[in-house]
Amino acid sequence: MLRWSDVLKYAKYGNPEPPRRVNKTEAEWQALLTPAQFRVMRQQETEPPYRNAYCRSYEPGRYVCVGCSSLLFDSASKYHAISGWPSFSQPHAKNGIRYSFDEAHHMQRVEARCNVCDAHLGHVFPDGPELSGLRYCINSESLNRVEAEQQ
Ligand SMILES: [Zn+2]
Repeated sequence: MLRWSDVLKYAKYGNPEPPRRVNKTEAEWQALLTPAQFRVMRQQETEPPYRNAYCRSYEPGRYVCVGCSSLLFDSASKYHAISGWPSFSQPHAKNGIRYSFDEAHHMQRVEARCNVCDAHLGHVFPDGPELSGLRYCINSESLNRVEAEQQ
């Protein structure tokens, strides 16, 4: 299980190797993604709180990256964080997400990106529930929920 100390270590010293890599040009991403997905995933924008697809959705399933279909989260780790965005206490795999320090908007945050295609997903905070203490605050625009057997 990943904890805050692991997230800080990855952000500071480097992330685990991804299982594969997907590289596309900005024009290719623009053709593949909707404008809203492109703004979040490739331009690091944040979607509106509450008015997004998965904020209040707790259907069982798995959440994959919109950009490359990599498995990112399981519904079992999704919880209600009252933040306005879908929140998870743990990623599906240690090497699924890459972490870096983000000092935009005069805040010190840890950004979470897809480790396979580098899409911006959201941020990670150390105020999540037991046991991990982690809160992955993720944009719905970066996620697709699929049935467990589809992955
Ligand atoms: Zn991806």
